[in-house]
Amino acid sequence: MNILLNQPPTADIQALDAAHHMHPFTANAELAAKGARVITRARGVWLTDSDGNRILDGMAGLWCVNIGYGREELAEVAARQMRELPYYNTFFQTTHVPAAALAARLAELAPGDLNHVFFASGGSEANDTNIRLVRLYWALKGKPEKTVIISRRNAYHGSTVGAASLGGMAPMHAQGGLPIPGVVHIGQPDWWSEGGDMTPDEFGRARARELEEKIAELGEDRVAAFIAEPVQGAGGVIIPPESYWPEIQRICDAHDILLIADEVITGFGRTGNWFGSQTFGIRPDIMTVAKGLSSGYAPIGGSIVSDEVAEVIGQAEFVHGYTYSGHPVAAAVALENLRIMEEEGIVEHVREVAGPHLARRWAELAEHPLVGEAKSVGLMASVALTPDKASRAPFAAEKGTVGYICREISFAEGLVMRHVGDRMIIAPPLVITPDEIDTLVERAWRVFDLTL
Ligand code: PLP
Repeated sequence: MNILLNQPPTADIQALDAAHHMHPFTANAELAAKGARVITRARGVWLTDSDGNRILDGMAGLWCVNIGYGREELAEVAARQMRELPYYNTFFQTTHVPAAALAARLAELAPGDLNHVFFASGGSEANDTNIRLVRLYWALKGKPEKTVIISRRNAYHGSTVGAASLGGMAPMHAQGGLPIPGVVHIGQPDWWSEGGDMTPDEFGRARARELEEKIAELGEDRVAAFIAEPVQGAGGVIIPPESYWPEIQRICDAHDILLIADEVITGFGRTGNWFGSQTFGIRPDIMTVAKGLSSGYAPIGGSIVSDEVAEVIGQAEFVHGYTYSGHPVAAAVALENLRIMEEEGIVEHVREVAGPHLARRWAELAEHPLVGEAKSVGLMASVALTPDKASRAPFAAEKGTVGYICREISFAEGLVMRHVGDRMIIAPPLVITPDEIDTLVERAWRVFDLTL
């Protein structure tokens, strides 16, 4: 019996799942007791679960289904590529059309002279690649002692040992002895939670200057790179004050530090440009991409590097690679995804239609008694929940709990939002319409009402 074709009863699937499936980022015993929600199909921005409920996916899966669910073109391209050449590697002086064509397309789309792509299966692998890449770069330039990578607290760069070390998530570091040596963290530009009496711009500059202080403390000759998400995503959609990125860019330039922009979430239209670096005026030497590259239809990621970085790395054999680097099916799906995005003007839709509409409607949530800050950029947004707007107090006693309750209610109300600490966040598929945004915001308001 083919279980995939015979839609079994929900309880049977939940039982199999509870007995055998270890979920990521989940207390599995707790989940097993209540049973996982079974998602069976999706179209556009709408999920359907095994009980027939329709749920608005305010998170685009995991920030990845940028062109929305159910695009037949991607299924057709994947099937065609599987028939033609389902797999071949790109290790030993071979290539294939999808990998070469996708690398060339990314070179066209990426800003500046980011013209060279090293492929991976996702964002974590790509960030692991970056650790080795920047250290090799400096070694080949005759500065092997430049090895330290500076990152930020509350950053998320993935779950492999290297990427989780780059990340600044304390609960992740507490498991498995992270971070690895040579990775240090500075503060995040979260004005709402940490800005105190400073204006957002004063705070943005102060947080950026922590980078300069850290470089001075370590010695410029030891620092290889600074890595950051243009907008911290999994950390709670922390949109930095305007002063932040120009100051970071100045510091990286002044101290000969490579700048890695982790665009795994902010890439491919999320902030209203192809890349968040364009929205925030960042000139990275390396960009991490994944997720929206294929709209999540196939696992693929990569590091896009500048001409200069590629030229230096090219002097040696980079002893590094993944079986699925440039996987032909994933690369073909990504190419088709990018073609659709361009043909349908999806980035322009975010910049000119959906992003401004969300900004207007999302800001209304700040009127709700439970909501402090309500901010968005493009199609990513967050609210900070607070019992006292004046003091910007967090829900100290129940830190996390309110968000959790809120998320549970949200699902029942037909809206996927995610909670991070005291924040509720959204990042819907980029094809969302203004009417669907209205539905999203109205449901979010109701969820906050029910959480009170
Ligand atoms: N970098 C950022 C900014 C992310 O948000 C994520 C995943 O959420 C990653 C890296 C890791 O990507 P992946 O889960 O594809 O390994």
